[in-house]
Amino acid sequence: MKRNLRLWNKSLTARLTGTFFILSLLAVILAGGLAYAEARKSLTASVYERLQAAAALRETSLNRWMDEQRLSMVFVTSIPEVRRQSGVLFNAPPSSAEGQAAYQILQQYLRSVVSGLAELDELLILNLDGKVLLSTRQDHEGQYQNYTIYFQKGRSNTYIQPVYQAEVTGRPAITVATPLFDTNQQRVGVLAGHLNLARIDRIILDRTGMGESGETYLVDPSFKLVSAARFNDSGSPTGAYIRSPGIEAALRKETGSGLYANYQSIPVIGVYSWLEDEGVALLAEISQEEAFAPARQLARTIFGFGLLAVAVLAGSAFLLSRRIAKPILAINSAAAQVASGDFSHTAPVMTDDEVGTLARSFNEMTEQLYGLYESLEKKVAERTADLIRANQRLTEEIAERERAEEQLRNQNVYLAALHDTSIGLIGRLDLDDLFEDLVVRAGKLMDIPNGYIYVVDNQADEIVCRVGVGIFSDLVGFRLKKGKGFGGTIWETGEPMIVDDYDNWPNRARTVERNLIRSVIGVPLKNGPEVVGVIGLAYDFTMDSWRKFGNTEIELLERFAQLATIALDNARLYTTAQQARAAAEAANEAKTLFLASVSHELRTPLTSIIGFTRIVRKRLLERIFPLLPDAETKSVRVKEQVDENLEIILGEGQRLTTLINDLLDMEKIQAGKMTWNMRPLRIVEVINHAASASASLFEDKDLIWKQEAAVDLPEIYGDFDRLVQVLINLISNAVKFTSSGTITCRVQQVDDEIVLGVSDEGIGIAKEDQPSVFEKFNQVGDTLTNKPKGTGLGLPISKQIVEHHGGRIWLESELNQGSTFFIALPVNRPPASQESSLAPGEIVSSESSG
Ligand code: ADP
Repeated sequence: MKRNLRLWNKSLTARLTGTFFILSLLAVILAGGLAYAEARKSLTASVYERLQAAAALRETSLNRWMDEQRLSMVFVTSIPEVRRQSGVLFNAPPSSAEGQAAYQILQQYLRSVVSGLAELDELLILNLDGKVLLSTRQDHEGQYQNYTIYFQKGRSNTYIQPVYQAEVTGRPAITVATPLFDTNQQRVGVLAGHLNLARIDRIILDRTGMGESGETYLVDPSFKLVSAARFNDSGSPTGAYIRSPGIEAALRKETGSGLYANYQSIPVIGVYSWLEDEGVALLAEISQEEAFAPARQLARTIFGFGLLAVAVLAGSAFLLSRRIAKPILAINSAAAQVASGDFSHTAPVMTDDEVGTLARSFNEMTEQLYGLYESLEKKVAERTADLIRANQRLTEEIAERERAEEQLRNQNVYLAALHDTSIGLIGRLDLDDLFEDLVVRAGKLMDIPNGYIYVVDNQADEIVCRVGVGIFSDLVGFRLKKGKGFGGTIWETGEPMIVDDYDNWPNRARTVERNLIRSVIGVPLKNGPEVVGVIGLAYDFTMDSWRKFGNTEIELLERFAQLATIALDNARLYTTAQQARAAAEAANEAKTLFLASVSHELRTPLTSIIGFTRIVRKRLLERIFPLLPDAETKSVRVKEQVDENLEIILGEGQRLTTLINDLLDMEKIQAGKMTWNMRPLRIVEVINHAASASASLFEDKDLIWKQEAAVDLPEIYGDFDRLVQVLINLISNAVKFTSSGTITCRVQQVDDEIVLGVSDEGIGIAKEDQPSVFEKFNQVGDTLTNKPKGTGLGLPISKQIVEHHGGRIWLESELNQGSTFFIALPVNRPPASQESSLAPGEIVSSESSG
């Protein structure tokens, strides 16, 4: 099936031939079918006519026969002798001789009638009560038939009881009955005759004009066949019921015709009608097979001829389609050849029609295609060559890049090692550890586990081994003279050196065992032109692989040598620095000690000088001077001079005391020996304390003191006495350098700081001098013309104190306009519960004048 389908789809010939075949076959089938149907229709009509005619014929014959029977009965009763004897039979007592005679006569007579009429089975005479008085079949005599229809109807008129089921025989029967009169026209009884159906059978079953299978038959209302012989003789039970659509319609007293299956289930054409007189249904049927045989024959003939025509048609269609398909197939096979790459193949031009044109176009196309194909092939070849070249280049480039990458990787490794070493160098001061690390790292880079570093010992004029790893680990402490051995040679030449075969090197150190060092590389550690050491690496005899040293190794080792030199230098510098620091610390300590003792030594005599001067002056003023004559001008002048000088001694003594105290403070702070008494405190208390302590300074001066403080200033954390010291210093400076005007102290909070400023209206400080006022012993201005008024230590000490509190000190000043010195101290946040009755920011001021 699948194969056929493929053939159908693939072969043009098959498709054309097949289509023709199917179409013509369809036409033949249609024609045959139509002819058959038409023939059947006309045959059915003619068969109906035939059957109707046959049925009508039988009906007429049957009626006639029935009439004859009726007449025969009437005739018998009309015979005078029958009438006479009947009168006797009915009137005379039966046992009388007369009656017996009449019985005998009638018996004889009726028997002769029965034997004369073949269709008559029995003749009987019944009295008016229905009793059988006489019968041609004597066993029936004496029976009562008063319930029978023929008796009841026949008493008054001649009556034929249509076919019914005879009780006696159980077979279908027809009975004719007629009243029996005597000679006096007196009705005495009934004459009845049972007719047998042989004659009916003859009429009905006559097959004239019925063909082979045609038959006519009667059926009584109880669906039983009315027939004397047929069923009995054929062995069928007489009482068999028969049914068919024809029978049922006829028994419903319809007349008609139709195609149906008869009682034997054979398809028949049938005509049926109801015979009222006989009370039976008459059916005439002929089997459809026989009736339609001509139609079938016709169809067969048409079909036969049709098939022949189809075969011829299909054959010619095949030939024709082959002719059409051949050139196309030729083009097809040419196309297949071309498709497989054989461009030499052309399609044959067989015809001049469209197919011919197709073949020509195909050939042209093939030619063009061939051209294209060839140029394409050429291009492909060229491109392939290009590709191969490009590929080669690429391979080379890749190899080159891999080499470059390898180099880069190595460099990276070197750099990383160097970097690590450099980092190690920065943080490390233990020279031996670092040297060992350097040798190990350099060795690792070159895959050599043996190395050493020699360092020049200038005092001994030797180089001494500081570290050794691998086979050189026992070398530490080993010394070489200049020019001796490998290390000594490099020290002497100051150049890198490689010895490939150490054992056979003439200058080798005699102490080194043979078969230990295979080859060795070394470079000098150089500080400028001076060689300060040697670093070396060596292959030993236990190593599986070794290579000759070259420039790469020298370059690499030189880097490590540089690092080693730096390390060496660092170590030296560090040692020097350590020594310098220790010396400085010792000097400082000595200075502090000196200052402490000197100040102490100075303070004691100074106190005596000041004390005794005061006493001397007091005595002079109170006791000596009053003794001297006032009148003498000279003595007055001497008194004044002495007093003046004593006052200078006191003032300078005081100044010296302050200087010594300041010096001691400064020293203490700087040496970190000052004791601080830090606690939360209010800045306003500090100001008040300082103000009252310096009140005496205002005494001889035309100055006003003014104090402005914000009310809700938070507490600060500090040393009360030291802060008072700072403030006194600022106030006394202001007083010192101001001849008249106001000295104001303002304090307020700015962000997280308490800022305090002391302003004066004095001489001010030049811009260029301002930065140096906080330097020790610095007194700005013209110190030669102005007599020094202080120690030059006040502001530096104040700065130290403020900075110890985490604060700042600065100034704002204009020459001859006055100065303001500020200090800012961090706020020590007060507990939340502390409240003030004044509004924030309100200023309380107090004034006093000197
Ligand atoms: P001194 O003990 O000399 O006052 P300071 O360190 O306190 O030492 O002051 C250093 C110098 O700064 C002073 O000698 C002075 O020249 C200058 N100076 C300080 N305060 C003022 C000021 N309020 N007005 C002008 N100059 C000042």
